[in-house]
Amino acid sequence: VPNRDAAVQEGRLNLPVVQEEDRVMETLNSHSVTVLCGETGSGKTTQVPQFLYEAGYSHPDSDFPGWIGVTQPRRVAAVAMAERVGHELNAKDQVSYQIRFEKTTTPSTHIHFMTDGVLLKEVSSDLLLSKYSVMIVDEAHERNLNTDILIGVLSRVLGQAFRDPRVTPLKLIIMSATLRVSDFTENARLFPVPPPVINVQARQFPVTVHFNRRTPRDHVFDAYRKVRKIHARLPAGGILVFMTGQNEIYDLITRLKRKYDPDRMAEVDEGLVNHARVDASVKSDERATTQGATTVLVDETSANKGEGTTQGDEGDDEDEFELSDDDDDQDADLDEDYDPAQRDDFDEVEDEDHTDQPLHVLPLYSLLSTDQQMKVFDAVPEGHRLCVVATNVAETSLTIPGIRYVVDCGKAKEKVYDPATSIQSFVVSWTSKASADQRAGRAGRTGPGHCYRLYSSAVYDQQFQQFSLPEILRMPIDSVVLQLKAMNMDNVINFPFPTPPNRTDLAKAEKLLQPSGCFARSAKREQGRERRRKAARNSTRNAMDVADDDAQRTKDDDDGNRRDGPAVSSRSWTKFCWQARARATRCFLLNLVGAFEYAGGSTKFCQTHLLRPKAMLEIRALRRQLTAMVQNVNPKLHVTMNPRMQPPNETQTILLRQLLLAGFVDQLAIPHPHPPLNDEDRPRHYMYQSMVNDAICSLDMPAPTFDAKSDTLTCHVVPRIGPWFARYLLEGKVFPGWAPLNAVWATQPS
Ligand code: ADP
Ligand code: MG
Repeated sequence: VPNRDAAVQEGRLNLPVVQEEDRVMETLNSHSVTVLCGETGSGKTTQVPQFLYEAGYSHPDSDFPGWIGVTQPRRVAAVAMAERVGHELNAKDQVSYQIRFEKTTTPSTHIHFMTDGVLLKEVSSDLLLSKYSVMIVDEAHERNLNTDILIGVLSRVLGQAFRDPRVTPLKLIIMSATLRVSDFTENARLFPVPPPVINVQARQFPVTVHFNRRTPRDHVFDAYRKVRKIHARLPAGGILVFMTGQNEIYDLITRLKRKYDPDRMAEVDEGLVNHARVDASVKSDERATTQGATTVLVDETSANKGEGTTQGDEGDDEDEFELSDDDDDQDADLDEDYDPAQRDDFDEVEDEDHTDQPLHVLPLYSLLSTDQQMKVFDAVPEGHRLCVVATNVAETSLTIPGIRYVVDCGKAKEKVYDPATSIQSFVVSWTSKASADQRAGRAGRTGPGHCYRLYSSAVYDQQFQQFSLPEILRMPIDSVVLQLKAMNMDNVINFPFPTPPNRTDLAKAEKLLQPSGCFARSAKREQGRERRRKAARNSTRNAMDVADDDAQRTKDDDDGNRRDGPAVSSRSWTKFCWQARARATRCFLLNLVGAFEYAGGSTKFCQTHLLRPKAMLEIRALRRQLTAMVQNVNPKLHVTMNPRMQPPNETQTILLRQLLLAGFVDQLAIPHPHPPLNDEDRPRHYMYQSMVNDAICSLDMPAPTFDAKSDTLTCHVVPRIGPWFARYLLEGKVFPGWAPLNAVWATQPS
């Protein structure tokens, strides 16, 4: 029996999930799969593990001695929730977490939080998950790729006879902040017996939604004005601002701190240095449906301002909450390309909106260090108003206490995949209606709230999708197949996806990946490959920091390794191929980046060569980040970043070519000079193709060279890559397409 603090116990009793403890536990006990829906903040993540704990789960002498596992899509949530549950149970050593690079398990661990990525990795080595007696998959409504795959995998683990018969079958709990769960419940392939759905009704105070009259060109500036107005004019209550990424967040908090909290500017500067203002991997975030929140829509364009907004807001004079301007930006064109340097009009905001009350401004986004992110839960300093500027981390993962005002830019950064170029990138676009409603709901946790949407109701009506697609439908399918194969899933076509991708595409992807050797490396070759592993690490490092002095030195030492190429165990190999491919895409730009850095990274260089300085600076920051990551993974390497990138030496060039070949292997075909015209020709054609594929796949040699004059072979690369790239692959010529830049690179004084 937990020995909880009196204050904690009292707080718990108010949570909707706790009020339903009996119903929740009865259902869990009598079903192997349960779906639990409840609004964000209703207590799912913090309370359900405690119910299980109190019911005897995870206790060595019970029928369910295994751990209580909980997955989270985000690192910060895994850490924050583990700490919170440890605190509530008054037993910190019994609640642990594991995220990439970090693990806090102890011999007395009972409840274990982890990211879904960590669990996927664990499943691939222990398909029975024998360590656990119950697994909670949280935030399932986000429909991340990992979460979807995890649910599919877990559905196969449940109640399996192959689990140790002395161990009680694993139980699965799927938790969602929305009621949109039919992909899990009405899916016979996934769960032949439909799992029960428990819907916990949360108390949600009404949130009044205020739309902008016009959609501003620059939502950071607009958010700044809105926050200033709220702070100056409206009653106490925290402000939560949704921005799309780190750059915008830093821009906004810098402006706000300068105005309201100059003493703490140093923290911002520190943050800027630490994170280099690069927004490389803010997790794409799936939209989901909302339910239960009473949302009253008020359009500031309406003739009668405040009409129809009386619901719930006892005592509030609605007009007071109207913050509409007459000076809304006239230009409704949306500028997707955010560049703070282009603007300096922030200080022109009228000072009528000034107040001397300090504002406690905090950033919140996935890449921020966990300590920094946890600051949003600390007590707000006396006399301050809290203002958290967040990405969609704050949409459902974390509930920040005391928020009464939400300022929503309406956009999110999403990973999108372009099948034409095979390139995945992060794009800022409108979020979904469901997501916007989740954001608004954040204002109604502690009392009636207000949500200021920095876009017009017309944009909301006409341009917002109801829901976003599950991530799996927005991904290159071969990447999904690779991920499953990496987990030793043989039958990809029949995998129980919550939302299955097109079967034909799956089959195609599986076939496509076959010749790359991704799944077909013989076991023999995998033995005793330490030397190769070393080579793989080196080549990886070379791709990322091709011309670092340090790297070069180590490279020259290990020259003998270069022929080995990146051969590693088959599982990592699979992963490696995929990563190499992503890197290969970057290598296109390598010459460009190299020339830029070699020239000292000057703006003038950008002007001369028509480059966007901001993009180049971001690439540099990304390079710094990747360097730090490599260093982190393998401290022995001593990788440092030399800002003045030297051109690659011969070894590095070879390694780069191998990476490119590995990465684009599916796009290489080696036909007869003319495509085979008759049946006689065809076998030879395919023989060559498979020969070359084998050669490339083995990567035991430097990139194959083919003499165009000899007999038949030429290299055909799909047109989108271009013939010059084919020549590059075959002849090792360094990017003839970038000749002018090469010249620059070569002639810069050192
Ligand atoms: P859900 O998972 O349903 O969204 P949670 O279990 O995360 O809800 O949160 C339940 C309540 O506990 C929330 O109202 C939140 O305010 C509070 N809470 C959660 N984490 C913390 C924390 N670290 N500090 C203070 N309060 C917290
Ligand atoms: Mg939660």
